[in-house]
Amino acid sequence: MSAVNINSGDELRELYRELILDHARNPRHFGKLEDATHSAEGINPLCGDKLKLYLRLDAGHRIEDAAFEGSGCAISVASASLLTDTVIGLDVPGAMSYFTAITRRMTDVESTEEVLDLDKLLALEGVREFPSRIKCATLAWHALKSALLSHTSPVTTE
Ligand code: ZN
Repeated sequence: MSAVNINSGDELRELYRELILDHARNPRHFGKLEDATHSAEGINPLCGDKLKLYLRLDAGHRIEDAAFEGSGCAISVASASLLTDTVIGLDVPGAMSYFTAITRRMTDVESTEEVLDLDKLLALEGVREFPSRIKCATLAWHALKSALLSHTSPVTTE
């Protein structure tokens, strides 16, 4: 974890809540990526979240840059912001392993598997207590997978 001394679950939750709100208010890498090589749209009709994720891969299939645009609830925007922060610099298998780890931890309450150092991404795990918001948190990650697989049709959580 971090250098912060966490004494209780409540403090941890508060820290994560602030992280989510920070990314929702000031999303990183927000906007269109003009020279994107891969992109995908994600739509979560249950909540009204809609985003488009852009990736630029280099010749070695490493993600050089990532950005997103769209609108949605705080969780969906924060998740997309954290995603772009996370995947820049990763190769395709590396990014896919984050997709797998995040969606698994989000949808399987029993999972405590530590396959990766998820670090800040664990903030998203708070939505497990609110099943209706899980799709908000995973939307950007499904768009990531779709973009990496170069699917052309929009992904939907339905
Ligand atoms: Zn949402």
